[in-house]
Amino acid sequence: DQSLCTPLPVLGEDVTVPLVTGGEVTYAALDYAASAPALQRVWDDVAAYAPYYGSVHRGAGYLSQLSTDLFENSRATVAEFLGCRADDQVIFTRSTTDSLNLLAAVVPADCQVFVYETEHHASLLPWRDARVTYLNAPRTPAQAVETLERALADRDPYGPALVCVTGASNVTGELWPVKELAAAAHAHGARIVLDAAQLAPHHPVDIAELDVDWVAFSGHKLYAPFGSGVLAGRADWLQDAEPYLAGGGASRKVARRTDGGVDVEWHSTAARHEAGSPNVIGVYSIASACKALTEAGFDRLVAREQQLVTRVREGLAEVPQVKVLSLFGDDAPRVGVISFVVEGWNSSHFAAALSAEYGIGVRDGLFCAHPLVRTLLGSDPQDPGECGAPEAEPGELPQSRTDSTGGTPLLNAIRVSFGAGTP
Ligand code: PMP
Repeated sequence: DQSLCTPLPVLGEDVTVPLVTGGEVTYAALDYAASAPALQRVWDDVAAYAPYYGSVHRGAGYLSQLSTDLFENSRATVAEFLGCRADDQVIFTRSTTDSLNLLAAVVPADCQVFVYETEHHASLLPWRDARVTYLNAPRTPAQAVETLERALADRDPYGPALVCVTGASNVTGELWPVKELAAAAHAHGARIVLDAAQLAPHHPVDIAELDVDWVAFSGHKLYAPFGSGVLAGRADWLQDAEPYLAGGGASRKVARRTDGGVDVEWHSTAARHEAGSPNVIGVYSIASACKALTEAGFDRLVAREQQLVTRVREGLAEVPQVKVLSLFGDDAPRVGVISFVVEGWNSSHFAAALSAEYGIGVRDGLFCAHPLVRTLLGSDPQDPGECGAPEAEPGELPQSRTDSTGGTPLLNAIRVSFGAGTP
């Protein structure tokens, strides 16, 4: 969207890259699902604030007061962006991964956690210490609800339970039936956390309307720079637990005990889980991006993105060798995230060729969702066999460029993704 995008090289404006075939082409960055370039508005806001920043919650000086105000106003902006309920807390973290690990650290000790095997590893893995039930990949949104209901009906009805689900898949872009899943969770006395890393940049996410207990998302996918994220939602589990990180800012009162130890009284606000000096620029950037998206209007942004989705899908459909990956079928509603394989092609080579020969930057691999990609490619999600290239010895080249996410030349896909900031 021209009115939102940043005229920086990463956005693909006026940038030419040399091609292996000779000539030059305008570079197209189409990997928004990994990290979306920050919006111009965000850079402008940060640049205007940069000369004035100071420590947050820690000083009497003017700059410190100003920064504290900006930080706390950013919290209010995010709360409004997410439609938070009056008693919800907005905690600033480093990322979605950090937010979900924070929640995993505070769930009650006997909590049963239900998570689909199709989740991104950030929502699949943090629950290792809890009693986790992994749910099989559903093939329709209705089946997702049925699968959850069946699992919840079998659970120990007296203990606490949590469902973790993604709002939009980072592999297929497909939307999950969040409202229905939340209703099912609550009907069985469970709570639900929404991984909105891919949903929030593309759709309005309203905590109260969806009736989810927590929402997690990352700034760098929502057109803000790296390094900041959000966990917002119910205060009780967060405030009943020990702080995620111990340190200054989380502690209200610390005193030596006569027996030689230390007594600590922790804060009972968001500060409890925000120990250490916060990433004030990152947090301010998230708030700035939330405002920019709200002001641009999600209706308009969604409509334009859907046009791009249709155009890409129609283009891909014209190539007989291309198979678009989908869990819920062709008609499923989706955001601007599309993965595919090309018959006869190694996906890593194909992605490299798109960049080198056409100046199109995409992602290839298993997208930190190994069981899902394995299911989509028709391989066994439970068989670790071919998944994950062996680590390269020092000095050796990795087997594939996608080793960091576990892709192998045999088992991976290509992903093209875009959004509101796409020029
Ligand atoms: N969940 C989903 C659905 C994602 O796509 C991602 C990032 N690819 C994450 C969680 C993790 O986000 P981050 O790397 O910012 O922690």
